[in-house]
Amino acid sequence: MKPTERSIHERLSVNRYQTDETTNHIEVNQDYARATGLGKVLVAICPAHVYTENPDGSISVEYAACLECGTCTHVGGPELLTWHPPAGGAGVSYRHG
Ligand code: SF4
Repeated sequence: MKPTERSIHERLSVNRYQTDETTNHIEVNQDYARATGLGKVLVAICPAHVYTENPDGSISVEYAACLECGTCTHVGGPELLTWHPPAGGAGVSYRHG
């Protein structure tokens, strides 16, 4: 079976993740997210479902699931997010095959 014939879930499941337990590499400016409505955009666009909206309108971040695709960094710029790559050796390692 060619890699492209497998589902996205199957293809993502071969990647390896090394979680940085000490540092969250993503921080949301909650006030800005609420005021602009961009928190809902983060929830909608992240392919790894890192962001969830809480009943009070705040945005939770499950940073360990981040695929480091960079999509969210284009939603609202530095006013919305502080995002930096995980510390050396941490984060996602892509596997093909
Ligand atoms: S970099 Fe990609 S996977 Fe990570 S939080 Fe942003 S949109 Fe989600």
